[in-house]
Amino acid sequence: MDSKSTEEKQETCILVGLITKEQDEDHVKEYLDELAFLALTAGAVTQKRFVQRVDKPNNATFVGSGKLEEINVYCREHDIDLIIFDDELSATQLRNIEKVLERKVLDRNNLILDIFASRAKTAYAKTQVELAQYQYLLPRLTRMWTHLERQKGGIGMRGPGETQIESDRRVIQDKVSKLKKDLEKIDKQMATQRGNRGAMVRVALVGYTNVGKSTLMNLLSKSDVFAEDKLFATLDTTVRKIVLENVPCLLSDTVGFIRKLPHQLVESFKSTLDEVREADILIHVLDISHPAFEDQYHVVKSTLAEITMADKTTIVVFNKIDAYRKQHSDIIPEEHHAELLEELQQTWMAKLEGERAIFISATEKMNIEELRSLLYEKVKAIHAVRFPFNSFLY
Ligand code: GDP
Ligand code: MG
Repeated sequence: MDSKSTEEKQETCILVGLITKEQDEDHVKEYLDELAFLALTAGAVTQKRFVQRVDKPNNATFVGSGKLEEINVYCREHDIDLIIFDDELSATQLRNIEKVLERKVLDRNNLILDIFASRAKTAYAKTQVELAQYQYLLPRLTRMWTHLERQKGGIGMRGPGETQIESDRRVIQDKVSKLKKDLEKIDKQMATQRGNRGAMVRVALVGYTNVGKSTLMNLLSKSDVFAEDKLFATLDTTVRKIVLENVPCLLSDTVGFIRKLPHQLVESFKSTLDEVREADILIHVLDISHPAFEDQYHVVKSTLAEITMADKTTIVVFNKIDAYRKQHSDIIPEEHHAELLEELQQTWMAKLEGERAIFISATEKMNIEELRSLLYEKVKAIHAVRFPFNSFLY
């Protein structure tokens, strides 16, 4: 048994993805790697992956019926607890799949919501996640009821079932509107808090999940934000005042982005995103050692484009160069590693936002001073405009 055995019992799962015109084989492999990591974060170990090549998902069962049977046989032979689909399932698909497999079926959204629920610490984060969960549940209520009905042997039929669904739906709708009101209240409080911070320059760390934002936050602010090698370690926004040379600014660490982030979650994390929206400067952190970091960059950019109107001053930071070097150590000897970095600085990557990017290692504290001084320049420029009478500071 590994060290995890002391934690809660791990469930076993299998993953299911589709190769389509939109997502080729390499992408699906990448998505399923990430899905496996998500599953692990939620506490499930992946035993096997099932991939099918199709023109489009099957309306009734997502995968074809032959594939579903293959999955079924495997699940029974290996006593699998959980089947996770990489794409969103409709109520109908979910119902049909559950009917065949007779075990827990989740899609990527359920899984992300589940992780968020277990990570939420403050009342605010908890309310946000609860709201998102109810909103995701609402259109899928039919399935749950049909499911119950089936267990009861199909008696009761249509009438009572409909009544039950209706009253369930009302209960949930009431819950949703109450949660929305609660959130509005907290949002207002948080807006006031942000307002009280005055005109201080604001910097927000953004990026894909697990790239090292919280680690960098801790390093820059000498604080102690929770960081670990799991997805979504931090759900709540943390804001710290930091002083660069003699110029103060506010640095915030935010929830990481991820591909196919449930729409409901983007909506309900409004306040977190407000922090990004109202920031003067973004530090976009990338994990250069991740094989899909380019994709991750684009996911973050497009999510940002949805929530912020204008292009903001952005510093691109490539983190984990230590890991990147290790990956290349078999081809490039150690003494040439400095050159590797120089080479990187010559590439297109170094000019992603039309500006020079910084290559760092947050855990090894490499090139942090370079980042600090670039940030200082940017913050100082904004500060000088905002507080013209303070210019004696510089
Ligand atoms: P976040 O999700 O973006 O906030 O990422 P975290 O700060 O929680 O870090 C995710 C994981 O990456 C943790 O295990 C960190 O220790 C690790 N990590 C962060 N920075 C570096 C780095 O520069 N090099 C390496 N090798 N690992 C890092
Ligand atoms: Mg974090």
